[in-house]
Amino acid sequence: MNTIASLDFTPAVGDLPLTDLQRSLLHTARQLGRDKFAPRAPQWDESASFPLANYSDLREAGILKMCVPVRYGGLGADYASYMMTSAEIGRYCGATALTLNMHICSTMWTGVLSDGIDMNDAQRGEHHARRELHFARIVNQGALYAQPFSEGTAAAAGRAPFGTSAQKSVQGGVSGWVINGKKIWASLSGAADYYGILCTEDIAGQAPNPKDTLYIAVPATSPGLAISGDWNPMGMRGTVSRNLTFKDVFVPDDEQLMPRGVYYRAAQTWPAMFFTLAPTYLGIANAAYDFTVQYLRGEVAGEPPVKRRMYPTKQIAVAQMRIQLENMKSIFSRAIAEARPNPSKDERLRLYAAHYSVMEGANDIARLAIRTCGGQSMMKHLPLERLYRDSRCGALMLPWTAELILDRMGRETLYESGERDD
Ligand SMILES: Cc1cc2nc3c(=O)[nH]c(=O)nc-3n(C[C@H](O)[C@H](O)[C@H](O)COP(=O)(O)OP(=O)(O)OC[C@H]3O[C@@H](n4cnc5c(N)ncnc54)[C@H](O)[C@@H]3O)c2cc1C
Repeated sequence: MNTIASLDFTPAVGDLPLTDLQRSLLHTARQLGRDKFAPRAPQWDESASFPLANYSDLREAGILKMCVPVRYGGLGADYASYMMTSAEIGRYCGATALTLNMHICSTMWTGVLSDGIDMNDAQRGEHHARRELHFARIVNQGALYAQPFSEGTAAAAGRAPFGTSAQKSVQGGVSGWVINGKKIWASLSGAADYYGILCTEDIAGQAPNPKDTLYIAVPATSPGLAISGDWNPMGMRGTVSRNLTFKDVFVPDDEQLMPRGVYYRAAQTWPAMFFTLAPTYLGIANAAYDFTVQYLRGEVAGEPPVKRRMYPTKQIAVAQMRIQLENMKSIFSRAIAEARPNPSKDERLRLYAAHYSVMEGANDIARLAIRTCGGQSMMKHLPLERLYRDSRCGALMLPWTAELILDRMGRETLYESGERDD
């Protein structure tokens, strides 16, 4: 990537000390976002179709391999660098940022996150061999990965085993897994080359157990894999998150994205892995704020140059939006700087607070933006009503919905691990 001496804009994450790679990624995200993703965003929203053109640009710019370690041919971006870049993309197209998250997680979980998880030598060796194959697909062929976990049960909230099962099998002399089950809400359905699913190992004579969760890539061309269901949601329409069914789908062992038992440990060890959904919505909050300032100054391109900034009520509302946005950026930046395996209790509670603040805050800011700009601002030719609809979706996403964050924070504040009242 090109070296950028300094940025000529304030990133969605705020003014932070940045590395060369972070500046370069943010510069690329800004250019793509402003020049290409923002003008195209209405089209994906209107037709509820996947932003394929944006993905050609992301692939060409090297963003799809940004979190692949350098020794495997990627850019070697760390967790914080990804989170900043994602927020910048979310500022221009929420559906692109959110779907990119599913793909990037497949590289971050197998890369930097796995490096921080305890594995024995055999597991580490197996993991390194398999991720080489998986990274090569992304680096050499520009492959796109989805991340369908949700099943409409308590599994995606981490409270039950996944109903989708994987049973050990040998077919044509190849050792692998036979997968059966159903996923809902599979963003990138129809666009992904691989679906990185979570499923439960089917072990004869044993009840399904979350500790036996497997993380496996299913090639989109696999016989027995089907996409179904209508797609006409309120927001994030470009994610195209339809249902997937797996009927006796066979995949070789090499498709395992983590060795047996490692996903469960990862989810316990690295809570910040679930915070990666938040930057999309920090980007949307920035976009709603940016629009409001431009609109009140009478500077929105193509609109009559009517100024509305002279009314004290508008000034107060903009101040309130800015205060909330600054709070969101501060707690977000702190959380991405602290993200690590086995965080302290304070760090974990702050991480939950950051997730909640961003997911609920994005919708608060979009709501205030519409109220403040007024009736003409919610017309479909302007982005604000789309930002408002998209901003509502973050707090609904498992495993950390806004409700479940409150639930976890309260319980984990008042009870130490293993404490009971009886
Ligand atoms: C735009 C968008 C894109 C998405 N993309 C993906 C994707 O790519 N991959 C993927 O796997 N999923 C994806 N999801 C799905 C998402 O992560 C959730 O699974 C989904 O929103 C949950 O909806 P539901 O109606 O099934 O929730 P339900 O499980 O019916 O829960 C409803 C609400 O009840 C609460 N609740 C749920 N379980 C519990 C519990 N055990 N205890 C207490 N309260 C609980 C939660 O607050 C939840 O919001 C996406 C969702 C959205 C909105």
